[in-house]
Amino acid sequence: MKKAVIGIDIGGTYTKFGIIDRQGNCLNDSFINTDIYKDFDKFLLQLNKEIENTLSGIQEKIEIKGVGVGAPNGNYYRGTIEYPPNLHWKGIVPVTEKMKNFFKGIPVVLTNDANAAAIGEMIYGGARNMKDFIVITLGTGLGSGIVVNGELVYGHDGFAGELGHINVKLRGRECGCGRKGCLETYVSATGIKRTVFRFLAERIVESELRNISFNDLTAKMITEAAHRGDPIAIDAFEFTGRILGAKLADTVAHTSPEAIFLLGGLANAGELILNPTIRSMEENLLPIYRNKVKVLLSGLSDLNAGVMGASALAWKELEKK
Ligand SMILES: [Zn+2]
Repeated sequence: MKKAVIGIDIGGTYTKFGIIDRQGNCLNDSFINTDIYKDFDKFLLQLNKEIENTLSGIQEKIEIKGVGVGAPNGNYYRGTIEYPPNLHWKGIVPVTEKMKNFFKGIPVVLTNDANAAAIGEMIYGGARNMKDFIVITLGTGLGSGIVVNGELVYGHDGFAGELGHINVKLRGRECGCGRKGCLETYVSATGIKRTVFRFLAERIVESELRNISFNDLTAKMITEAAHRGDPIAIDAFEFTGRILGAKLADTVAHTSPEAIFLLGGLANAGELILNPTIRSMEENLLPIYRNKVKVLLSGLSDLNAGVMGASALAWKELEKK
């Protein structure tokens, strides 16, 4: 019988999952809507139904060895989602405890989505032979997973590695966390939009981005405009990369990683974001670290990184036992 795990990626809009073997092959996958379920129990019931359907669609005989879950504000130690900003469920949701009722006897493990991406990078992606690295996810916000000596850093409470909320500027841009000047208000898909709008207001130069509303603007549009030579878009990437690079230089001082991987919407801009980030990081690094730390694009595809990360978490947990 073929051994596999279920990787579940809970997001604000969709919850995606896949049945993944140890080599990273996806045997089958599907998704359900997250945002139509105000009640977590109803969500779980539907998710379980869809997983049953998806399992029955696989020809081979499968033995499910474990379940891994990646979720915003996921707590590894407690198996809970705690005060998630982009989900309907309020307070503390005991996710693994409730899931164990469905997956009788099968271990269920949970962590936040960026930590799951880091484990995915380690098991299936570009960090397969690395023991010290950092994964930065550049989506709506900025998430991070920090791996030291081959282990993800969870901290004493399970919430280590929130680089999105380190401070870039005192009394800077308002952040969804209630504070000001956080890194993700500058460096994320939303952050670069805010930068584009600031530049448009301050400058009179022609830009194809002038006729787009804030809500319609996407990181992809800014990327395409930059490729066509739009000065506002190009400068927005430069500004974003400079801030990210400076903060990565600080981060290197904490764990001295071999590499930093970028993943997510803004990372799809490739060299537009990589080049200013690397330049700024090198300028700001302590000399002993210079020209040693690789900044790379993730080896995982943006489309399935969450599911692969969650399944990698399940495999890693099984290997610990
Ligand atoms: Zn914040």
